Amino acid sequence: MRHIAVIGSGPAGYYSAEALQKHYGDEVRVDIIDRMPVPYGLIRFGVAPDHQSIKGVYRRYEKVALSDNVRFVGNVLVGRDVSIDELRGLYDAVVLATGAPNDRPLDMPGAELPGVVGSAAFVGWYNGHPEFAALDPPLDVTAAAVIGNGNVALDVARILAKTPAEFVGSDIVAHAFEALGNSAIRTIHVLGRRGPHQIAMTPKELGELGHLEDAVPEVDLGDFPPPLDDALLEPGLRKSVTHLRDFAGLPKTKRKLIVFDFFAKPVAVEGDGKVERLIVERTRLDERQAAVGTGETYAIPCGLVVTCIGYKTPPLEGVPYEEDRGRFANSEGVIGGGLYCVGWARRGPTGTIGTNRPDGY
Ligand code: NAP
Repeated sequence: MRHIAVIGSGPAGYYSAEALQKHYGDEVRVDIIDRMPVPYGLIRFGVAPDHQSIKGVYRRYEKVALSDNVRFVGNVLVGRDVSIDELRGLYDAVVLATGAPNDRPLDMPGAELPGVVGSAAFVGWYNGHPEFAALDPPLDVTAAAVIGNGNVALDVARILAKTPAEFVGSDIVAHAFEALGNSAIRTIHVLGRRGPHQIAMTPKELGELGHLEDAVPEVDLGDFPPPLDDALLEPGLRKSVTHLRDFAGLPKTKRKLIVFDFFAKPVAVEGDGKVERLIVERTRLDERQAAVGTGETYAIPCGLVVTCIGYKTPPLEGVPYEEDRGRFANSEGVIGGGLYCVGWARRGPTGTIGTNRPDGY
């Protein structure tokens, strides 16, 4: 009989447990340990509440969770309540599936001002994560800036833009539903430090913005390369860029605007004791497609800044860590000495939920 500890009960954790069951059958016992009292990690606290079809994947994990040889041990923080070395002594193998729940910090003057919130905190707030229940983001302001051009930025912009009726069927928590229903925000800037061809947004998620009840997206076609250049993009990105181009033709007749600001690199947050504006430098692309500042700056008036610029895995004492990539140092998931890592803790915060399945296996 093998005894395995999986630390973290999100997708990577349950796919690992499922893989262990498939491989060892009745000859394995898996303990899934989580700092939260309830399982499913990112599915519960990260996936947007209005994306129930994505959240539905928990049913697959539930099958594993309810089987006889898999146990959930909640409310245990590894590193505080039990050390990695202790776990290594107790189990045949320890698998770190701790995800990447920490925001990458916004490294600029004014980033500490009230009104600047990381996406982990903001998403946690509307998803009922107990650590962020008291976040109380400023929604009595008329404009918000969402920094980043990935799918998390889209989630945040969409949640800020939706009407109460559009949350029917979601599992948004009551405090966020009520606060968002009373929100005064009418303009949501989505800032990319590079251009439309460099976005990390997927077509389905981007397309949703074109069908909101009371909000409409706006782009400046002057930011786009010639249309013929789209043919060079891989199909998914080409579809996303087509959605963006189509946004230009939508009538701007709704109450809220989602403004895509490309080639816009935030350089400072300013305000008197709270966020009042974001200072942005215009960029251009160099030959490696990196954003280079042009020296030209402008201000975006806003009272809320949500940073959606990626996440980091929290380091654990005694486990080698790659600071720059925000993940455990590993070779194809092997850390060494009976210690493994999977999912975002292994690869860094990229890929869809399904990407974690082969990782777990
Ligand atoms: P992401 O896809 O890596 O996007 C991060 C964005 O932040 C990029 O646009 C990046 O720009 C920008 N950025 C990074 N540092 C910055 C800085 N200092 N200043 C300005 N911009 C900066 O990460 P994510 O949006 O957090 O998503 C994480 C993963 O979860 C992704 O794989 C995503 O697809 C997935 N996800 C999927 C869904 C869904 O399928 N519905 C929903 C949410 C998340 P550069 O490109 O210039 O670096």
